[in-house]
Amino acid sequence: ITVLGLESSCDDTAAAVVRRKDGDSNGGEVLSSIVWGQEGLHAAFGGVVPEIAARAHAERLDLCVEQALEQAGLALAEVDAIAVTAGPGLIGGVISGVMCAKGLSIGSGKPLVGVNHLAGHALTPRMTDGVEYPYLMLLVSGGHCQFLGVLGPDQFTRMGGTIDDAPGEAFDKTAKLLGLGYPGGPLIEEEAKNGDPKRFRFPRPLLDRPDLDMSFSGLKTALRRARDTLVAEKGGLTVQDRADLCASFQQAVADTLAEKTRRACIAFGKPLETPVLAVAGGVAANSLIRAALQDVAAKEGFQFLAPPLKYCTDNGAMIAWAGLERFAGGEFDDLTLSARPRWPLDKAAAPMLGSGK
Ligand code: ATP
Ligand code: FE
Repeated sequence: ITVLGLESSCDDTAAAVVRRKDGDSNGGEVLSSIVWGQEGLHAAFGGVVPEIAARAHAERLDLCVEQALEQAGLALAEVDAIAVTAGPGLIGGVISGVMCAKGLSIGSGKPLVGVNHLAGHALTPRMTDGVEYPYLMLLVSGGHCQFLGVLGPDQFTRMGGTIDDAPGEAFDKTAKLLGLGYPGGPLIEEEAKNGDPKRFRFPRPLLDRPDLDMSFSGLKTALRRARDTLVAEKGGLTVQDRADLCASFQQAVADTLAEKTRRACIAFGKPLETPVLAVAGGVAANSLIRAALQDVAAKEGFQFLAPPLKYCTDNGAMIAWAGLERFAGGEFDDLTLSARPRWPLDKAAAPMLGSGK
């Protein structure tokens, strides 16, 4: 089975072609994966501007799909299905993608498969490493942070997650507070290399609670306070102050994620002899956080899996793969497929946009 996948739910316009490996129910071969980032369009605003994103997606999707097919060496007529992110995400972008996919489906007669963006992230280790169900997944991105029990292509148990900001959002907002630019994650990681992670003691929220919930919005407030104190004392931040703030912030996020992940491993138990802890989402790109999670997994007897970075952040291949799994199970959609701004993973039937439910 070969599937074309489209992704446009945030600030990346992406298209990819993925083929299931022969004689193996797990694992996909990425024939092409085109990702056009929009960072440049949003950098000046310190965050994604939905209207600008939607316009850019609408302008670029056609060409992005064309390139993905060309690089895969296939005509549209040669793919088996067209998968598209149908939510959750910035609704203008999601609609652009769904419209484009519907057009392609009508034009080619190929079935349309709506995909939950989070399912795309959560199923990525199946594509990259052929992981068996069930496995434990920590999804940490710009918009999400949750522990998922992944039981099947359409079966997820949400075990806990952030009750406010996602860690990526915290990285982005913190970078903005320090005047570093956008997206904040890589910039903070770079600054932190020269910083002292122990200089500022930022909170590790909710560690006193036994559940798997997390909170990251207080961290940003604590950092702002530390910054303001420094500015009040000496009229500004030195290069070292900035590096120390970044390192201390990053350490606090890593510590919190590591401790909650340890508890998630225990809660998930060991359904298989070697249980798997997989991560996905842009924050999984952070090497300190990766190392902390790897350490926890080793201690708890879990195999640790982090897909290559290009498949951790938003991309079309993960959507093609998630669509492929749905399609292989005999599921697909028709032209009534709707874009959903909200679509929790553990609730298959979310309200359709405009249905008033
Ligand atoms: P979602 O998938 O939840 O809709 P998203 O698409 O914005 O959100 P991703 O593309 O998976 O998320 O990841 C982007 C986020 O990852 C940004 O918030 C960015 O700051 C963060 N990020 C990227 N690299 C790093 C890094 N090295 N360290 C920390 N955070 C990082
Ligand atoms: Fe994403």
